[in-house]
Amino acid sequence: MRIDIISIFPEYFTPLEVSLVGKARERGILDIRLHQLRDWTHDVHKTVDDTPYGGGPGMVMKPEVWGEAIDAVIAQGGPEGAGLPRMIVPTPSGRPFTQRVALEYAREPWLLFTPARYEGIDARVVDEYRSRLRVDEVSIGDYVLAGGEAAVLVIVETVARLLPGVIGNAQSVADDSFAPGPMENLLEGPVYTKPPVWRGHPVPEILLSGHHARIARWRRDQALRRTFEMRPDLIARLDPESLDERDREVLAECRERHEAAAFRAGPQSMAD
Ligand code: SAM
Repeated sequence: MRIDIISIFPEYFTPLEVSLVGKARERGILDIRLHQLRDWTHDVHKTVDDTPYGGGPGMVMKPEVWGEAIDAVIAQGGPEGAGLPRMIVPTPSGRPFTQRVALEYAREPWLLFTPARYEGIDARVVDEYRSRLRVDEVSIGDYVLAGGEAAVLVIVETVARLLPGVIGNAQSVADDSFAPGPMENLLEGPVYTKPPVWRGHPVPEILLSGHHARIARWRRDQALRRTFEMRPDLIARLDPESLDERDREVLAECRERHEAAAFRAGPQSMAD
């Protein structure tokens, strides 16, 4: 996969030289190219921003410099047969970045990221490239970062570990929280390694039993309990058809415990 990133802080991306992503680059699975946006400015101060039309606080990134930069990167050409890149514009007002979106990106041969600073990029840039490329405005969460670089790191790392050959054991990707399949919308439960007892805390006995079917069932119970506790919104999204009798029993227990705790906490918490 080829990834181009245009930013005023290309040095922000040194983490992409280490660990899993770094190794994927060394092995030729990922070709990441960084570009300094200011290289496409024409003034002595290398200006990339200006005051917003209509007033208001902050500065807006100028369309001309982004246009020249994006055109130049596209003109360099991508991997053979890739056509044009899919352009990803990080913004808090974009569609949410999820594991499903990551899987979609992992199938692309060429991604182009345009992380912004200040109040973002002049909106005409997205309008312009929408007519020529597939453009996604993507948010990594309901909060506001100082710039899009950290969002790009999040997206690239998530996509990279889905590429064939990047993770030794493909099953570990299939078992992840949010992975499409029987565990979709369920968070992964707790995990353990040696020693069997640490500071008086034993590993759950079932995991030492070697009984694969029972271990799988125990893991699903734990995933249901953890999801109920941490992300009730995901429980509401579970497809009832995907739940077996034991799943329903576990969820009923969770609800009873939750209601009992709310009752003990008093009337205000019952209303929540
Ligand atoms: N005023 C903008 C708003 O409220 O939508 C926020 C601009 S933010 C300070 C600057 C840049 O950081 C954005 O243009 C975007 O590239 C990036 N950014 C900030 N939060 C983000 C998020 N949650 N997801 C993706 N990118 C984000």
